[in-house]
Amino acid sequence: MNSFPRHEGLTRKFRRSLLDWYYVHRRDLPWRANRDPYRVWISEIMLQQTRVAAVIGHYHEFLRRFPTVKKLAKARESSVLAAWSGLGYYRRAHMLHAAARMIVRQRGGVFPDRAEQWLDLPGIGRYTAAAIASIAFDEPVAVVDGNVERVLQRVSGKALTRERFWNTAQYLLDVEHPGNFNQAMMELGATVCTPRAPACLTCPIVDLCATRGETATTKSIPQKKREIHYSLVCRGDRHHGGEVSLVRRPLDASLMAGMWELPEIEPPNGDGKLAFTVRHSITVTDYTVRVWSGGTARSLNCRWFGTSKLKEIALTGLTRKILRKAEIL
Ligand code: SF4
Repeated sequence: MNSFPRHEGLTRKFRRSLLDWYYVHRRDLPWRANRDPYRVWISEIMLQQTRVAAVIGHYHEFLRRFPTVKKLAKARESSVLAAWSGLGYYRRAHMLHAAARMIVRQRGGVFPDRAEQWLDLPGIGRYTAAAIASIAFDEPVAVVDGNVERVLQRVSGKALTRERFWNTAQYLLDVEHPGNFNQAMMELGATVCTPRAPACLTCPIVDLCATRGETATTKSIPQKKREIHYSLVCRGDRHHGGEVSLVRRPLDASLMAGMWELPEIEPPNGDGKLAFTVRHSITVTDYTVRVWSGGTARSLNCRWFGTSKLKEIALTGLTRKILRKAEIL
């Protein structure tokens, strides 16, 4: 069941107004340059839980290193993780790599062209499958992400269940232009119908909206706060030819498995030297990160890495941030 009035004229107006607005106002994003399924797929995976601005630089670099699905399938996992470094949620990179291997080995490098086939690949859920199939192959399937949910909720003025979001999005979908329509819905949510202050005066579907921003605000989840401590231990001249001590995260860790980071330590009892503090946010936690210098690396698993080699190994995003601040990277 959908939550938009079942009225042919209104539905047509909704589609036309939204698409006309999108063709003029869409942001010029690199993955919109063409509809190549490989590029659409990479961008959709990178954009999961990551801001557009953070994805842009990584997207170009990733495609430079792995320009085709065959190159990605052949790559070592450590190189894929290194290229992903800084984007976070590394499980996505593991899945992307596994899916590339399946596409090459089981499908001879040919991409699926329907959403239900994409769902068989690792790392692909209902939203991502529909996004890729509609954008790259014009399959008439609607998408629902957080932006689309917000737009639909406000347009209908009703609290919708998950399934009703999907049904309403599918009802409204312009089946002649499914990829652009889906992107237009998401773009509207990202740039006009924003969580805190929807810009209803500039909204192309304001005439068709039941709330015009009145029920607007989406509650933000309160951030937790945590303090963590790392040891930054170097030998030699750390800016020229020196080495830094790193430790590898366990291969079965649920987050950032197998990546390298600085050794985490207990807060020193007055004998350490605080080098600096950085702030870092991961999902709902704001970390205050204290970095201590001097001393010796205590973990048995620590390894020394030449500072010139650091760019080639898979570092966690926080480690990169710390090493940049210390002017080592
Ligand atoms: S009129 Fe306002 S609340 Fe309604 S869809 Fe447009 S921006 Fe969102």
